[in-house]
Order: sequence, then C-alpha cells, then structure tokens
Amino acid sequence: MASDFIRDMIAADVESKKHNGKVCTRFPPEPNGYLHIGHAKSICLNFGVAKEFGGKCHLRMDDTNPATEDPEYVDAIQRDVKWLGFDWGDNLFYASGYYDKLYEIAERLIRNRRAYVCDLNEEQMSAYRGTLSEPGKNSPFRNRTVDQNLDLFRRMRAGEFKEGSCVLRAKIDMTSPNMKLRDPAIYRIKHAHHYRTGDAWCIYPLYDFAHCLSDSMEGITHSLCTMEFESARELYDWVIAAAEMPWVSRQTEFARLNLTYTVMSKRKLLELVEGKFVNGWDDPRMPTIAGLRRRGYTPEAIFEFCNRIGIAKNLSTVDLALLEFVVREDLNARSPRILAVHKPLKVVIDNYPDQIENLDAPYWPQDVPNEGSRTLPFSREVYIDADDFMEAPPKDFYRLAPGREVRLRHAYVIKCERVIKNAEGDVVELRCSYDPQTRGGVTADGRKVSGTIQWVSAAHALDVEVRLYDRLFVTERPGEERDFKEEMNPESLVVARMKVEPSLKNATANDRFQFERVGFFIADADSKPGAPVFNRTVALKDSWAKQTAKHVQSAPKTSKPKIEAKAAVATELSAEAQALKDCHGVSSEEARTMAIEPHILELFEAALASGGVAKTAAALVCNDVLGEVRARKLERAPFSGKELADLSQLIADGTLSSKQGKDVLAKMFDGEGGPKDIVKKLGISQVTDVAAIEAVVDRVLAANVDAVARFRAGNTNVLGALVGLAMKESGGKANPKTLNEVLRKKLA
Ligand code: ATP
Ligand code: MG
Repeated sequence: MASDFIRDMIAADVESKKHNGKVCTRFPPEPNGYLHIGHAKSICLNFGVAKEFGGKCHLRMDDTNPATEDPEYVDAIQRDVKWLGFDWGDNLFYASGYYDKLYEIAERLIRNRRAYVCDLNEEQMSAYRGTLSEPGKNSPFRNRTVDQNLDLFRRMRAGEFKEGSCVLRAKIDMTSPNMKLRDPAIYRIKHAHHYRTGDAWCIYPLYDFAHCLSDSMEGITHSLCTMEFESARELYDWVIAAAEMPWVSRQTEFARLNLTYTVMSKRKLLELVEGKFVNGWDDPRMPTIAGLRRRGYTPEAIFEFCNRIGIAKNLSTVDLALLEFVVREDLNARSPRILAVHKPLKVVIDNYPDQIENLDAPYWPQDVPNEGSRTLPFSREVYIDADDFMEAPPKDFYRLAPGREVRLRHAYVIKCERVIKNAEGDVVELRCSYDPQTRGGVTADGRKVSGTIQWVSAAHALDVEVRLYDRLFVTERPGEERDFKEEMNPESLVVARMKVEPSLKNATANDRFQFERVGFFIADADSKPGAPVFNRTVALKDSWAKQTAKHVQSAPKTSKPKIEAKAAVATELSAEAQALKDCHGVSSEEARTMAIEPHILELFEAALASGGVAKTAAALVCNDVLGEVRARKLERAPFSGKELADLSQLIADGTLSSKQGKDVLAKMFDGEGGPKDIVKKLGISQVTDVAAIEAVVDRVLAANVDAVARFRAGNTNVLGALVGLAMKESGGKANPKTLNEVLRKKLA
C-alpha cells in the first residue's frame, strides 16, 4: 500500500507514542441506504490503516435519524464490509447505543452554560445566523437560565412539545467566521419510531454532536472523514472539549470519491430504487457494493481500485474507465475462457463427416498461469457470430468472407465456399469446407490464417439469457445540467440471448467466465439448474473510450466538492449559492463550494472584476485553486484576482490546454509570477496550428506502422497509444482536440 498524508500522519503519531502508540479508527455509515463504491474508499482506508498499524477499526452505525434508517440497511452494510474482506471483530457499535450518555452530556453542557433551548423557528434561525460576510445575531433565548434550560430540555424529552417548536443549541459564538460555530443545533424533537430504540426517545442528537462524542467514547484515535466535514472540525473539537471528555479524538479529512457516469449520493440511489429506475439496491448497474458484487466485481478489484486512486485532499473525479480497467485486469486471471456466440449465423461444413468430435479445449490462454480444460463438441453444423462474416469485406478484415479462411477456436480452419440468402437478400447460412489437417488450428503447410473466431456446435449449444449491462448514465456528471434521472442510459441493460458452449449447462450463481472476444460474465442468482443466466460484468474493450477520450480533453478532470446534508444541514442551495448560480452561470457544485469557502468566492469575484471568464474561472477556483490551497495547507491563494482572470482567458481562448493551465497554476502557487510571464518564460502554449500538428502526426504514424496496421485491422485500442505518442512528440503542446481530429483523419 502506497503511503499518503494520512498514513504519514498516523506513522508519526505511532512513532511519537501519541495515544500510547495505539491506532483505532472507525467506519461510521448511516444505515439509510446500501454502501457504495465511495464508501469502499473509506472502508479500505479505515480498515486498511488499522490493519497496517496493528490497530482496530470499529464499525459504527451512525443512526441518529429515525426517519430514514432501517435494519435492512444495517444487515446489508455488515454483509458488504465483510465481503470486501474486512473484520471489525467485537467492535460493532451504534450511535443509538449512546443515547443515554449523549443525553447526560447534553444536560452537562446546559449546566455548564454551554447549551440552551431555543424557540426560534427554522426561518428565524437562519435569519439570525447571518451570512459569510455578516455576523449573526444572538437568539433572544440565548440567555435563559440553567434552570429554565434544564426544565425545557427535560420537557422536550418528555414529549411535551411539537416537532420543530424548539431545539437545544450549543452556545458558542454567533459572530464566528465559521458558520458552523454559530450556535448549532445539537438536539431536535422528532416524534418518530427508531428501528433500535423504538419509542423510547422523541428527541434525537444531531450529527455534529453525536459523532465526535461517539468517537471519544470509543477511544477513536484517528477520525477520518471526507472533506465536506472540514468546516465542522472546529465544532468537533469544541464539543469534545465542552463535554469535558477524557479521550480526545482528532478528525482528519480526505477527498471523497466521485466517479464519472455515476451518481453516488445515497439519496439519489434511493430515488433510483424507489422510482424503480433500477431493480433494487443490488441491481448490477448500481455503484453499490451489492450491485458491483452481482455485476461480477471482486473484492480484490475494488480494493485495487481504491489503492490506485489513493488518498489525498484534492477533490477529484475518477474516470469510470479506471474502475473497468482494474476489474478487467483482475478477472483476466480468474475467468476461464469459453465460447459464446451473440448473433448466431449458421455454418454448414459440407466436407465434415456426420460425426461428433470431442475436442479437448484448455480454459486458459498461455499467458495466464492456470490449468484445466473441458471438452468441446464439434460437428458439421456450427454457429458463428454474424459480425465475424462480411460478404464484401475490406482487405484488412481478418475474419470470414467468401473464399477466405478463418480459424475456429480450438478446432479447424474453415473456408467459406458459398453464401445462402433468404428472399430478402439477408445472409442466413454459410456453406464452408474445413481443412482436416488443421485440427487445433495449426496449418500443416504453414500457410497463414490470421483470424480466429468463436463458434458453438449447433446441436449442442445452450441458449441462455444474458444481461448486457452498461453505464447507467450517458453523461459524465449526471445531474449537473438537468435532473440526473433524465440522463440515464436507455441501454444500460439489454437482455439478450446467446448460444454458449454446452459446458456452461451446470454453471451456478457466481461462476465467472470470459466469453472469448465478448466480455467477462458471471452467472446470476437468477440462474436455474440447466438454465444459467449471465450478467456481463464488463466488455473486453472499452466501447466508451472514444467518448471518454473526448471528455477528458474537453473538460479538465475536475473535482466537484460535494456538500451532502447530514441531518441539520440543508441540501438545498443556500441563498448565496443560488445567487452565484443565477448571476454567473456557475454549476450548483461550484456555487456550493464558493458559498462555504469565502477565500474562493473572493478570488472568483476579484477575477470577474478583472475581466475573467466566468465559467473557466469558476472551474479553476473551485477545483484546482482549492485543491492546491488545501494540499499546500495555505489559507488562501497567493495571487490576485487579476492573475486568475488572465489565466482564465488564456485557457478560454485556447492558448493553454486545461492541463497546461493546471501546470501554470502550480507555478503561480510556487510564486513564479503571473500566468503571462510563466507562459513566456516556459515557452508553453498550445500548438493549435493544424499544419504543425499534421507534421507531428505524420512522423508518429511513419514510426509506428505496426500500430497503424493493427488499428486499421479493427483494433481501435491502439488509438489511445497513438494519441499519447503524438502528444509526446509535440512536447505535450498540441491542442488535444486538434491532435485527435488530425490523427483520426489520417488513420481513416
Ligand atoms: P452519501 O453522501 O453518499 O449519501 P454519506 O456520506 O451520507 O453518503 P455515510 O453513511 O454518512 O454516507 O458515510 C459513511 C462514511 O463513508 C463517512 O465517513 C463518509 O465520509 C464516507 N463516504 C461517503 N461517501 C464517500 C465517498 N464518495 N468517498 C469516500 N468516502 C465516502
Ligand atoms: Mg453524509
């Protein structure tokens, strides 16, 4: 496991014998939904560091909201954490298990004059809270006496008051620049049945109160959470201190995982489930652990993915293609190869005797160190995939065509002698001959047969249901422009039938296979004896590569900080954020970020005042600038709005690619001057001149004739490599869009 800033910090704490060298972390999900791949990042981190440092990791149900929690989720969470390969031992806890203690602590705060009962309603409360630029005002109820407060709080608990009529608030500082410290609510009335405590309580502690105290009660040394809790850290510390807790836990934040083409918030996932947009939480299209498991992902692949993305504070969105790449790599070594035909086209081998031959076919290719084989019946009539035949093929089509030869995997070389069509002129059958000297695929005379295709014996093939899963959304950032549900991929699930070799007859749930040249599949739980159903985990090739490549170039790999609601925090945009959105057309996520990061907002506004390009400047400040500020542990960016405005213009007018923009920004952080100077000094600017790019591309194509031939033979995978080489050849300066266009044109 590579190190990261959290592991470095823990190593230093262990070294200096802080907490007596003990390490205790926790993973604290709220049981209001199933765990998703983002949680897996947190699980791998929390359980991972505990293991690495010989410590413990607790599993704690953070269940302080009776309205949304459910024992089904508690079970699912435990099942999923175990499946990922982690063990909490005896350390399963519930925030609801601390209700008595938390209540006592709340009374202690009241007695110490650190909390009061407040009758302001929600609207008034928010008006009193002030804004980022204006301090808040004290509540008229702030000076209630200890006795009044104790009396009211006890009556809250006794159920005397309606929901929303009053709350218990921490008494901190209504003028604090940190809005979180402006007398936050810590207990609220909720007349609701709780799945564990039943009707014992009608007041429930809020996250900011319950979480830190739970950490402290459990002796958590390192409380690791995602960046959206950064501004809550001061409150975390305040509560532990005010409650006079003997054990002081420390919170450290890291960036949450966001994935392209995916929604991750449990609220949205619940919407998909409840609206029946998917078939439940474990629908194989869901980014939930249960969904990924059913889809055929392995815990090892998920762990490896988390390992590769690493832990940092910079907000980042990871391309879904990386997850798919990692799972392909993982499945490669654990999926025996079998033959399956998607669009069956009948082939009759006229010169093959009327017999059945049982071929011994190894399950594994040579480069996978696994052994085993099965028998494959071969007969006079077989099916091949219709896509592996072309009546009038281009020269570089290496599969079957009239008069051409192809190798049937594990069997013989056949030659297409005759094409049979129906009345409409569609090809319905091929008449072929086979070369008896080629059993196993090797020609006796050494002649070259380039293509190998899959097939199944017509009489023996099993006709099975396959569920072809694909990305659930068609846009990289679902929900950014419209309701995320309007951006669902209508082809995220295609139920089809395939002819597969008969050895699959007894496949049972969770058996994995690679259908050669098609994809990785897993037998679904819906399989019946003799009638397996297969889910496609992932296709062998990334059919989205083109789109992905395009997106990667057009949009900087940005991070969209997410301010997800925990109990008291509203999910709606605040008034400030809404105004930003309305005036400048920035995205909701950017607006949210600016609304909670005053220095970012200030820089953005200063950039606009100096003629910055709003959209570009917004993306820069919310992602790159914020990321650098955090990574460098600065209070704010060390340059002016004017300089940021200049940078935004250089990017917007195409002088700099977004990648170059980032490099220049890093230099601005290093104090190397304004963007224009840096660009001049380093001589970096994008080459957008088509002729210059064409020259580069020509050089690369000439030097890589093999790759070009493979591309033209249908292996589109090499395109990425060629783009990379050409980009390198241009010294990283070519405008990626132009480069891509030129390359495609030249290859066509
Ligand atoms: P969501 O925002 O997706 O609804 P949540 O944050 O409400 O999830 P919790 O049950 O509170 O879900 O999360 C449990 C832990 O998992 C928290 O410590 C949280 O920081 C972490 N976590 C949640 N989502 C992610 C993510 N996308 N990447 C990394 N960690 C995450
Ligand atoms: Mg949350």
